[in-house]
Amino acid sequence: MSISEYSFPTRILFGAGSRQRLGAIVKEQGFSRPLLVTDSGLAALPIPAEIAAILASEKAQTKVFSGIAGNPVESQVVQGVADYRAHEADCIVALGGGAPLDVAKAIAVLVNHPGGLFEYEDRADAKPIDAVLPVIFAIPTTAGTGSEVGRSAVISEDDTHIKRIVFSPRLMPRVVFADPELLLGLPPSMTAATGMDALTHLIESRLARGHQPLCDGIAMEGLRLAAGSLRLCYDFAKAGAGATPEHVSARGMMLNASMMGAVAFQKGLGVTHSLAHSLSTVLDLHHGLANAIMLPYAMRFNLETCARELGLMSQVLGLNGGNAKAFLAWLEDLRAAIEIPAGLKSYSINSQQLDRLVQFAFADGCHQLNPRPCTADDMRSLFEQALET
Ligand SMILES: [Zn+2]
Repeated sequence: MSISEYSFPTRILFGAGSRQRLGAIVKEQGFSRPLLVTDSGLAALPIPAEIAAILASEKAQTKVFSGIAGNPVESQVVQGVADYRAHEADCIVALGGGAPLDVAKAIAVLVNHPGGLFEYEDRADAKPIDAVLPVIFAIPTTAGTGSEVGRSAVISEDDTHIKRIVFSPRLMPRVVFADPELLLGLPPSMTAATGMDALTHLIESRLARGHQPLCDGIAMEGLRLAAGSLRLCYDFAKAGAGATPEHVSARGMMLNASMMGAVAFQKGLGVTHSLAHSLSTVLDLHHGLANAIMLPYAMRFNLETCARELGLMSQVLGLNGGNAKAFLAWLEDLRAAIEIPAGLKSYSINSQQLDRLVQFAFADGCHQLNPRPCTADDMRSLFEQALET
C-alpha cells in the first residue's frame, strides 16, 4: 500500500508505514523534545519504543508519559503536564485510542493556560483557550473516536466520573499519521467496541437535526466504509491474522471511517451518545461498548421520525428491501456477529443505578440534536428495554 496525503480537516498521512515519516516531519517542523503521550496498555507493547526510535533517528529526545488507563480523568492530565515541564518538551506526540489522544490535547491546553482544566470546559462562562498550544502529532491505534481529527477532548472528573468537554479549534492535531499497521494487533473486543463507536458517530451525525450537507455526505460514505470493513476486521482479529494485504486494507477502511465519523459529528450526535455517556459515568463502561449496546434501541426509537434517512442508509449499503427495517435488522446482525451483548441484563443494574443512568443521560447535551425529541421517561424506557435482554 502506498501512502496518501490529504489535508482535511488537518494534514493526514494515510497508509501502511506512514508512521515512519514521523521523525522527519517533527524535525522539519522544528521540534526535538516530544512528550509521547500513550496509555498504560500500549506502554507494555513494543509500539511506544518503536515510535521513540523513529523520533530518535532524527535526533529527537522523547519522554514517554503513559499514566493513562480506562476513561481519562483530570489527574492524569495534571501528571502529564508535570512530565511535559520536567522534560522541557517542545511538542506532543499522541499515540493510542481516544483516551491518550484526548489527554494529550488537555495537556496541551494546561501547558500554556493557568488554573484547572475544567475552567476551560466548553460552556458560556469558561475561560478562553487563547494562548498558543504545543503542536500535537497524532498516531491513532484504534478506529473509533476519530479524536485525531477532532477539536475537543473529553475528560472525566476524578471523583464523579462525569464527563467534561474541552473544545477549541486549537486542539486539532497538526499532522495525523493514520497507519493501519498499528491496528493489526488490536484484540477482537476492542476492534468491535471502537468500531461501533465510529459507526455510531456516522449514523447519529447523519440523523442529527440541523442543515449540514457536507457532514451528511461524509457520514454516508463513512458508513459505507465501516459497513464494508468492521466485521472483516473483527474476524481477522479473532483469527489472529497478521499483516496480510486484506487485513491491512480492512483496517485502513475503518481508520478512514473513524476519521470521517469525527468530521461528520461536528454537526451533532444523538440520544445513543447520551445513553452511552451515562453508562460510562455510572458503570465505567467502555464508551464504544456502551454505544454498541444502545445503538439499535435508540434507532428503533428514532424510526418514526427517521424512516426515510434510515431507508437511505439501507440503500447505500445495498441491503435487501432497502428500507429502514432492513437497516435496523442489519445493525442487530452486525452487533451479534462481532459479539457485542444485545442488552444490559448481564450488568445487573439496581433501581438506584437506573435512576442515576436516566438523570445523567438526560443532563447530557448530545440528545438535544436527536431527530426525535427524547424525554427522561423515554430514556428510562430505552434503558429498561436494554435491561430485559
Ligand atoms: Zn463516541
